[in-house]
Amino acid sequence: MDTVTITINGRQVDVPPGTTVLNAARQAGIDIPTLCHFPSLIPIGACRLCLVEVKGQRNPQPACTFPVTQGMEVQTDTPRLYEMRKFILSMLFSERNHFCPYCELSGSCELQDLGYRFGLDHFLFETYTKPFPLDASHRHLVIDHNRCVLCARCIRACSEIAANHTLGLGNRGAATLISCDADAPWGESTCVSCGTCAQVCPTGAIIDRRSSYMGRNRQLDRVASACNRCSVVCAMKVAVRGGRVVRIESDWEAPVNGGLLCERGRFEPLHDERERVTEPMIRREGRLMAATWDDALEAAAEKLRGAGGADLGVAVSGDATNEALYTAAKLFREDLGASYLGLLNRNVPKLSGRSGTLADLATSDLVIVVGVDLMKEMPVAAYLSKRAVDKGARLIVVDDGDNGLAPFASLTVPTSDIASAVAAAAAAGRPVVLHGGVTGETAEALKKIADKASFIAMQPGVNAFAATALGFNGDGRAAGTKVLYMILGEQTVGQVIPGQFTIVQAAFRSPAVEGADIVLPSAVWSERAGSLTSTDGRILKADKAVEPAGSAKADWEILALLAQKMGKKSLSFDETSQAALIEIKGKERA
Ligand code: SF4
Ligand code: SF4
Ligand code: SF4
Repeated sequence: MDTVTITINGRQVDVPPGTTVLNAARQAGIDIPTLCHFPSLIPIGACRLCLVEVKGQRNPQPACTFPVTQGMEVQTDTPRLYEMRKFILSMLFSERNHFCPYCELSGSCELQDLGYRFGLDHFLFETYTKPFPLDASHRHLVIDHNRCVLCARCIRACSEIAANHTLGLGNRGAATLISCDADAPWGESTCVSCGTCAQVCPTGAIIDRRSSYMGRNRQLDRVASACNRCSVVCAMKVAVRGGRVVRIESDWEAPVNGGLLCERGRFEPLHDERERVTEPMIRREGRLMAATWDDALEAAAEKLRGAGGADLGVAVSGDATNEALYTAAKLFREDLGASYLGLLNRNVPKLSGRSGTLADLATSDLVIVVGVDLMKEMPVAAYLSKRAVDKGARLIVVDDGDNGLAPFASLTVPTSDIASAVAAAAAAGRPVVLHGGVTGETAEALKKIADKASFIAMQPGVNAFAATALGFNGDGRAAGTKVLYMILGEQTVGQVIPGQFTIVQAAFRSPAVEGADIVLPSAVWSERAGSLTSTDGRILKADKAVEPAGSAKADWEILALLAQKMGKKSLSFDETSQAALIEIKGKERA
């Protein structure tokens, strides 16, 4: 049977078998109130607000867990259900302290919204006056148990989405609390600070320290963005108010990381206190002096006109956008004939075999991680690997040192025993190999499963996939060139070589900036539009969320202005994006 036909409030609804009554109603545009339900989590029917009457069932049933059957007749909005829901809500409001005016979530709290919807204008029952504890031991998050309705969304998010299993229920009855690692302070628990629990909490029970009380939800604009902290390039949303980034949220619709970010992506950009480069500078009489954009670009153009060919090199950091990389490749390789196009981050060559994507982890039965510590370097890839383990996949870690995924692996072997991992993969159905840089012997051993496994090269540089595809293959050392143009973006890598004329595009002060001859200030991730290519080849777009600091500009724009200054053709942003996408997608993985 392809579809099941039911009636909801007298309306006929056709849905696939296995659909829950709640989802069938939502597909038909019929609203059923919920509180513990969250679309990305497995429903548990805990709060009972979604109770519906099903013909033939003696008692109302929770719509979020009740599956449809052919001919089912459902009522979602009877006076009896209204009273039951109001009763449940009254109990929830009475159980803990829900004094809304003091709550960060007032105005965008799901419990408060339901209170208004069911006309709760006074407490029906005596309220529980014993104060519950507040745990503020976490560096980013606070849990106020007084606001908690025990919906278990946070527990499920921690387990099902982050695969971290830190949260659970402690105590019993009215004293039940959300607990970390069976009663550790949150800040001392196994929490990895992904922040997913805060994002699913329907009340003000879990809030984050940085964004709390900085604006109600309805006062915040959401801007689509992509994390530029590692090569997983997670899609995310930036919450902005008054020209400031208030919060970073995960994007539930994102194809690979849907709902998931790591600490580095969600919290660290909001605490970046490195000193910015905010204006162009030219070295005069040994010192970097402030200059206008026009003067700085003219000085750079003049130097570049006199170089070219073997004398000229360009080095890019891995977090330059596709647009910046494309414009740099066009200007320096095609127009100026630079002899050196380098990547400041290490490039991980892809191993022989089928190219996979991180989405393959969801269906894999064996994950091999070799030559990379994903927990440290690409945390969301680590969480996705742990999620695969939770679903029954085996995890094999091949590493000669400590590896953050080792405690979750069924087998951890040194690289000298790569044969054990290869043998396990040969016997598996859908093996995935996530690899960093590996030795020739390891690469050779893995060739035995080249036809079977999907391979993903986990690049240390954020946009290294695109950089390599666009021809930035040099190793970052540009000795031999007389003029070097460095596009550092937000990185503080690289050194100036004595005697070499150096032009640097950078967002932050660094040794390379201090030693440069000309400095051009770059916008950071939230201040520029652009796209990034993830380590598995997905292209993610980021919109500009806030204005750049000082007179900084997006890397691609600086390069386009420089090209114009030199009388070369430059493309618009949209043309650049399109051309970059075609070229990156058109290239085989290096
Ligand atoms: S921040 Fe992440 S790991 Fe920590 S408790 Fe919340 S969901 Fe779990
Ligand atoms: S802390 Fe929030 S998400 Fe967790 S159980 Fe309480 S109300 Fe629900
Ligand atoms: S895994 Fe990487 S891309 Fe994703 S949120 Fe963390 S740092 Fe950002």
